[in-house]
Amino acid sequence: MIWIDGVLVSRGEGGVYGERMLGDVRIWDPYRSKLSALYHLGKGVELTNDMRVLYLGAAHGTTVSHVADYAEVVYAVEFAPRPMQDLLEVSRRRMNVVPIMADASLPEQYAPLLESVDLVYQDVAQPDQAIIALRNCIFLKRGGTMILMLKTRSVDTCREPGLVFSDTVPRLASGGLSVKDSTWLAPYHHDHAAIICVKE
Ligand code: SAM
Repeated sequence: MIWIDGVLVSRGEGGVYGERMLGDVRIWDPYRSKLSALYHLGKGVELTNDMRVLYLGAAHGTTVSHVADYAEVVYAVEFAPRPMQDLLEVSRRRMNVVPIMADASLPEQYAPLLESVDLVYQDVAQPDQAIIALRNCIFLKRGGTMILMLKTRSVDTCREPGLVFSDTVPRLASGGLSVKDSTWLAPYHHDHAAIICVKE
C-alpha cells in the first residue's frame, strides 16, 4: 500500500467522487471507505497489480476506484440501479473495473463473467452477509482472502453488535473459511467489523 506521511493514497486519475489529492495521488479517506479504515487500523491485505478482486456491494464505486488503482482487475457487483450509474462512469474511466449488475446472493447468475480471484471483498450491508460471503467463495482461489465488512446493525437491529460479530465468525469457519483476523472499524465507522479469512 502507498502511504505518504501517514496518508493512504492510490495512484490513478482523480475526480471520481470529489476525493482530495496529494500532489498527483488520490487520498483514500478512512472515514469514507471501510477498506481504507481497515488499512489505517494496521490490518488488511496488500493489494498488488497482479491481483484479481471480486467486490460485492460496489455502490457508487468510491472504494472500487481505489482498489482498481492497485489491482489488475476488479469485478464489481452491485444490484441497485442508481449507484450502478455512477459505477458505470467509474468503469468508463478505469478499464480494469468490470461492472456487474446482479444480486450478490445469486452468484450463479454472474459466474459466466468471472474467473477465479485472489480476493473477495464484501460490503453489502445485508442481514445474510455470512451466507453471501460463503456462496461467493466458489470464485476464491485456495489460499485466497475474503474480507467481510460486517454491518452488525444490518444483520440484526436488536442484538448487541458484539454478539452478531461473534455469531458470524463460526459460521464463516464452518463454510471452509479460516478466520485469520478481525477488528472493529471504530473510530472511523461505528457498528462495523472487518473479518479477514483465508480459503483453506
Ligand atoms: N463498498 C461501498 C464503498 O465503500 O464505496 C459501499 C457499499 S454500501 C455500504 C452497500 C451496497 O451494497 C449498496 O450499494 C447496496 O445497493 C449493495 N447491495 C446490498 N445488497 C446487495 C446484493 N445482495 N447484491 C448486490 N449489491 C448489494
